[in-house]
Amino acid sequence: MERTLSIIKPDGVSRGLTGEVIKRLEDNDLKIVAMKMIHMTRAQAEGFYAVHRERPFFESLTDFMSSGPVVVMVLVGEDAIKRYRDLMGATNYKDAVPGTIRADFATDIEKNVVHGSDAPETAAFEIGYFFNRFEIVG
Ligand code: ATP
Ligand code: MG
Repeated sequence: MERTLSIIKPDGVSRGLTGEVIKRLEDNDLKIVAMKMIHMTRAQAEGFYAVHRERPFFESLTDFMSSGPVVVMVLVGEDAIKRYRDLMGATNYKDAVPGTIRADFATDIEKNVVHGSDAPETAAFEIGYFFNRFEIVG
């Protein structure tokens, strides 16, 4: 069993896509073992995306991620990191396979509805960034 971090980004929450995303997770055997809604400060978003600090889109991305509430979840399942990323679809929604969350709902390469960890090490960092051990069930 593997853990991964999911975020429903500000565009997903404000457009009323929270239920739709959660439905897809549950239908695909990605079990939610922690969940909360938060509104990140700019500094919190910068800390989360620190790996992207040198990228040209860093300022815009952290501005966007701190622009409104997000839903943060820990998912558990077999091969959860890859299976969740397959459900999300490609970063650029124009390249995403039809039926994926981003192909179906994203409107922009930045405003792409969801985030998912990309490796076990990043999942561990990202889960620890938002949750302590008492907030994760099972
Ligand atoms: P995420 O980390 O959010 O799950 P990802 O792993 O598919 O997405 P990354 O390369 O880690 O993509 O980029 C992080 C986020 O930065 C993307 O989800 C998107 O919101 C934004 N982003 C990535 N590339 C660009 C770009 N070229 N222009 C604008 N924003 C971008
Ligand atoms: Mg990423």
